[in-house]
Amino acid sequence: MSHELDRLRAQMDEVNLKLLELLSHRAHLAQSIGQVKKKQGIHRFDPERERDMLERITKSNPGPFDNDTIRHLFKQIFKASLDLQQKNHKKALLVSRKQQPEDTVVQVGEVAVGGPGKTVIAGPCSVETEEQVREVARALRQQGVRLIRGGAFKPRTSPYDFQGLGEEGLRMLRRVADEFGLKVVSEIVNPADIELAEETIDVIQIGARNMQNFELLKAAGASRLPVFLKRGMSATVEEFLFAAEYIVSGGNSRVMLCERGIRTYEKWTRNTLDISAVPLLKQESHLPVFVDITHSTGRRDIQLPVAKAALAAGADGIMMEVHPDPAVALSDANQQVDIPQFEAFMEDIRNQGLLQPAEPMLR
Ligand code: PEP
Ligand code: MN
Repeated sequence: MSHELDRLRAQMDEVNLKLLELLSHRAHLAQSIGQVKKKQGIHRFDPERERDMLERITKSNPGPFDNDTIRHLFKQIFKASLDLQQKNHKKALLVSRKQQPEDTVVQVGEVAVGGPGKTVIAGPCSVETEEQVREVARALRQQGVRLIRGGAFKPRTSPYDFQGLGEEGLRMLRRVADEFGLKVVSEIVNPADIELAEETIDVIQIGARNMQNFELLKAAGASRLPVFLKRGMSATVEEFLFAAEYIVSGGNSRVMLCERGIRTYEKWTRNTLDISAVPLLKQESHLPVFVDITHSTGRRDIQLPVAKAALAAGADGIMMEVHPDPAVALSDANQQVDIPQFEAFMEDIRNQGLLQPAEPMLR
């Protein structure tokens, strides 16, 4: 009996090897077909051909497997062959560390973002008036912060809320930034406005709500400006990196990533800062990583420890909102810090040695 079992098993092993040989032969054929199709510019996936093959196979099915089982098995084989033909799509992403082990440094004016130092980007949620921007710009300059933010195109949840000053807002930011020797980061929501951005600002911000606006990502990929890409509020880290890949694969490698909190059931913060995303992104990608301490928390009282956590976790910088009079701000009134609070924050974080050496005092 056991002799019989051994004999059958030996036969089975032989069949397995024959099957393997046939599968490999089939795989080589699939690769050759893939090359011919590539030359002729034909789509790799051909559902009609698959149907034909399945029909032919099931017609000659001698049993004992029923046709559904045979169909299932062969579909697996077809899929594996297609994957083989499309192997190029499985190679490491351009944004991945496997592709580029060294850190990407994005030069914005004099600031080397992602270099050895840490970068602060600060400014009002929305650009409201020239005087408002000027007051903030002055404080930034005094604190050695060289990148000013401010929204001119505001993606607001309600259509009745302040939508931003648009082009006028960008020009206002430009004028004031030039007065103080600052560079401008501002959100663009429409691919058609990339040209305007190139004329007026220094860094294109793509906001959380637009992280998967693929046409906008492609337009940013074709731009000569660096891009500050924020994580979607329900995006996984992988989806975030794919969004960055859209920009980089379009030819623009100057991308900065920003974790800005994700949506959870927690109500005591506006979003939940996913601090683990920071070391994960640094590990998986060579792009600079920021943490937005304002939108991730939605409150002022924990911004300092959150900033410390972000920098300790390896972030290359932080983004925060500063407004001369947050109580009357046209957007995000509850979370922006005023200028004395911003100054105290900067002093604290500098005293702890967390910003050196990229943010020397410019006074
Ligand atoms: C912003 O930074 O102005 C903003 C709208 O943030 P987010 O896109 O992260 O919500
Ligand atoms: Mn805001």
